[in-house]
Parts: sequence; structure tokens; C-alpha cells
Amino acid sequence: RAAAARGAAFRPAVTQDGHRIEVAANVRKPEEALDAVAAGAEGTGLVRSEFLFHDRADAPSEEEQFQLYRQLAEGFGGLPVVLRTLDAGGDKPLRFVTHPVEANPFLGLRGIRLSLAERAVLFRPQVRAALRAARFGDIKLMLPMIDGLEDLRAARAFIEQERAELGTPPVEIGIMVEVPSAAVMADQLAQEADFFSIGTNDLTQYTLAVDRQHPTLGARSDALDPAVLRLIDMTVRAAHARGRWVGVCGNMAADAMAAPILLGLGVDELSVSIPNVAALKAQIRGLSMARAEKVAREALNCGTAAEVRALPGLRELADV
Ligand code: PEP
Ligand code: MG
Repeated sequence: RAAAARGAAFRPAVTQDGHRIEVAANVRKPEEALDAVAAGAEGTGLVRSEFLFHDRADAPSEEEQFQLYRQLAEGFGGLPVVLRTLDAGGDKPLRFVTHPVEANPFLGLRGIRLSLAERAVLFRPQVRAALRAARFGDIKLMLPMIDGLEDLRAARAFIEQERAELGTPPVEIGIMVEVPSAAVMADQLAQEADFFSIGTNDLTQYTLAVDRQHPTLGARSDALDPAVLRLIDMTVRAAHARGRWVGVCGNMAADAMAAPILLGLGVDELSVSIPNVAALKAQIRGLSMARAEKVAREALNCGTAAEVRALPGLRELADV
């Protein structure tokens, strides 16, 4: 029985009516690659590279990063590895970078903004290490906190310049869609990004203006809010119109009530924490895309997150 369960974990997640959804795992460290693959993950849709930079006195060198990214690429054995560049700053300051004091750190020098401001110490070594490691697997680069075309263009140009210098093969360059302006401008961004991954933790926080860690407002911060769902819908449509794939790597992807809606909205890939991979694949195998699309349309027309969660069709698909 255990062997059969393991076999099931490795089968792809295909709906009853034949739509395949990629299910990947979110990871932090290279050591997690083997666990992710063993759990049935079809790659990683989000490597939170922050782990390498925190709690240390100086920045990790290009060589140190190269070794770790190579280990990661090899651990996934040719499966896609979506390596997110450093998402520090904001509430996660670095000891070796002088940060301005910010009254609203979540609206400050965070993610790609910080990497572009600190190219020599942060962005260049990380980009070069990733480009070199891409020879050992299927590494794609993903940029966090993109708010529009300017940072995407600046980051792309910088990456291309480093790549030309190194003479390494091309890598796909995608973006996190986690700032509402990126979802609104998704049609433009899709012309210059190779893929999107929706970060619903931040997208919800910024759309509803509710701190994602707020001690008392937490209940108001639901990614199933129709405002968030409409932004996801816009993003998927814009991406598909340009032939780009869209993933979701926020915690929402692991919510049994969210999965049918995300499928119905046309999301191509879901990336969740390792312990959630098998259950998500099993849930998708039990779903019909036709019913998911119907419930997604209903959700877009709800007035509140509570109304979405109360949809009878959704409760049935989520098995609650
Ligand atoms: C997100 O914002 O949804 C996300 C996946 O990134 P993080 O949680 O690391 O900010
Ligand atoms: Mg985020």
C-alpha cells in the first residue's frame, strides 16, 4: 500500500477532464530538493533565496552561491528550478547593507528594488552564480516585488549583460506578480517577462492594505477576496494572450478552497510547501476543469471573501 501511495505521488496532476496542472514545491535550501522530489513535486516554483543572506555579517560570495545553486539544480535533476532573487529589505533588513530608516518598510526598498540599488554587493554575485549554475539544471530566474516595467527592464538588461560576459546559456526571466500594479499592467509586463508567478501573500496584503502579519486584522486578509481574484484573473488572461505561463506560489495555493478557483481561472502551475504537494495533486485529480471554471466565474462575481467561501459549488469541489 505504501508503494502504491508513493507511485500515486509521482503521477501528474490531471483533472477528470484531462487538464494537467504542474504541482511544484516552495523551498529554501538545496537540501530540500530531494525531499521535494520524493514528495512528488515537479520542480520548485519558488526558491526563497533569502536564507542565504540572513543572519550573517557579510554578503555570500558568488562562489558560495554558485555551489548552492548548483546543488539545488542537481537535486532537482533537470526539473524546473524557479530561483527567486533576493527578497530582502522591508521588514527583513540585512546586516551588511545600510538601510535607510523607513516609516513603512513594506512600501520601501524591498526585493528587486534593493537588489538594483545594491548591484555590486547583492545583485551581481547572485545573478552570476545563478547563470553559472544554470548549466547544471533547469534554472529560471524570478524577480520579486516588480511594480512595473522599469525595474523589469533594468534587471533584465543587467542579467543579459552579465550573461554575455560569462558566455552562459540563456535563462528564462520571470517575475512575481505580488504588487497590484503588476497585475493591472500584466499585459505590458507579459511582453517582457517570460513567466509570471503570483505571490498571493503580498498581493493580498497590498490589494487590501492589510499587513500580512497584523495581529488583529488577519481575518480580513483572505486571498479569496474577489478583489484579489479579479487581479489574478487579469494576470492569467494577459499572460496567456502572450503565450506565457502563470503559477501561484503564495500560501493560497495550498488552500483546498482556493485550488478549484485557481484552476478555473486558468493558472498553469501551483507551488506549495513540501507537505502539501501530495494532497494538492490528489485534489486536482478529483476535479473537473469544467466545474472549476464555473465556480471561478461565480467567485469573481461575489461581493466578499465570505461569499466566495460559502459558494455551494466550491464547498463541494473543496470537499468541505
Ligand atoms: C508571496 O508574497 O505570496 C510569496 C510567495 O512570497 P513571500 O511569501 O516570500 O513574500
Ligand atoms: Mg512576496
